[in-house]
Amino acid sequence: MAIQNVCILGATGSIGKNTLSVISQHPDRYRAFALTANTNVSEMLGLCREHHPAFAVMVDEASAIALRSQIKGVGLKTEVLAGEGPLVELAAHTDVPIVMAAIVGAAGLLPTLAAARAGKRVLLANKEALVMSGALFMSAAEKSGALLLPIDSEHNAIYQCLPSDYRCGETVPSSVKRILLTASGGPFRTHSYESLKSVNAEQACKHPNWSMGQKISVDSATLMNKGLELIEACWLFDVSPSAVDVHIHPQSVVHSMVEYNDGSVLAQLGNPDMRTPIAYGLAWPERIDAGVSALDLFATKELTFERPDAQRFPCLSLASQAFEQGGTACAMLNAANEVAVAAFLKGNIGFTAIPDIISRVLDTLSSNEADSIESILLADQEARVQASRLV
Ligand code: NAD
Ligand code: MG
Repeated sequence: MAIQNVCILGATGSIGKNTLSVISQHPDRYRAFALTANTNVSEMLGLCREHHPAFAVMVDEASAIALRSQIKGVGLKTEVLAGEGPLVELAAHTDVPIVMAAIVGAAGLLPTLAAARAGKRVLLANKEALVMSGALFMSAAEKSGALLLPIDSEHNAIYQCLPSDYRCGETVPSSVKRILLTASGGPFRTHSYESLKSVNAEQACKHPNWSMGQKISVDSATLMNKGLELIEACWLFDVSPSAVDVHIHPQSVVHSMVEYNDGSVLAQLGNPDMRTPIAYGLAWPERIDAGVSALDLFATKELTFERPDAQRFPCLSLASQAFEQGGTACAMLNAANEVAVAAFLKGNIGFTAIPDIISRVLDTLSSNEADSIESILLADQEARVQASRLV
């Protein structure tokens, strides 16, 4: 088998580095061809020294200049590119069959969409892109014949529990009754509403089971991550929110389930380690070693499930309302959330202000058709302005 080139969008992040960990276990199958990041020069230099990519992109121009001189200094051949343009070019590059979409937030939209339009195998970690542009993104993938493989552990689990000839974008078979989307519940699962008012960023980023970037960690704490994932599931599997049932499962061992009309419930289990879905996405339909330790159910002892609490964690219902509203509402939800989370991480607002801000933005702005990238980016921009005023 020929070695396949991989473009990793967001290589210096948690998903990016886990992807490189899997790739480096299989040098006979994959090569890190292009790595991209925003500003983290020292991290990117380290990755270039280890993986020798053909291209390294720093979106931030000053960071690109710094990286270029350091790359030259250590005698590497990696070509350093600057700005957002190269993200899109490399995601659609003819020498790249596989794109890992792992930029965090709306910044990932254009390159992820470019990979879908170019008919790549798209390993989709960046859920925000799909939330913002669902209909447009899914139709671009369908038109080009792109193969979408979900990397979000829950959606990866669901995909694994669907029939083997099922592909993302198709409506799930009519024998599927329900999708059971699991959620850890985050670090504040047992906190009272009163105590949520005074939690800080450091506490929010201490996820009980997963080690992830800051933004998704806060999203997990508010349950907005599950809200975004609910929307993600509706697009990937062509189901309505009423067919997706969120189950809080604090052990994060059952990564999600699919219920069939004969009463069977299929589940995918594993240790909470993103290298499992990443290896699955890279090698599908084959399975390869991921470097993940074996699941020890004797050590786990119990698997428990709870209903989500909409009173303490309103973000989940805000997300399903935005999806029902349709059009650009989900792009506005996502943008308001990004602004509110960034403000919370800086210590400028409290934790419970996050859903308040999102809710007020959605009440103030009206949703339009999400039929072009321009209308989606405009809605994103308007929601950011509105949310920033409320911070
Ligand atoms: P992270 O914060 O660790 O990494 C983010 C990456 O995006 C970095 O490489 C950074 O350089 C890049 N980036 C940030 N801003 C950028 C910009 N403006 N332009 C270009 N690049 C930019 O995030 P993460 O935890 O790896 O998450 C990445 C994505 O994967 C998110 O969408 C997240 O929801 C999703 N995801 C992550 C996990 C996980 O376990 N970490 C699980 C499921 C889904
Ligand atoms: Mg997830």
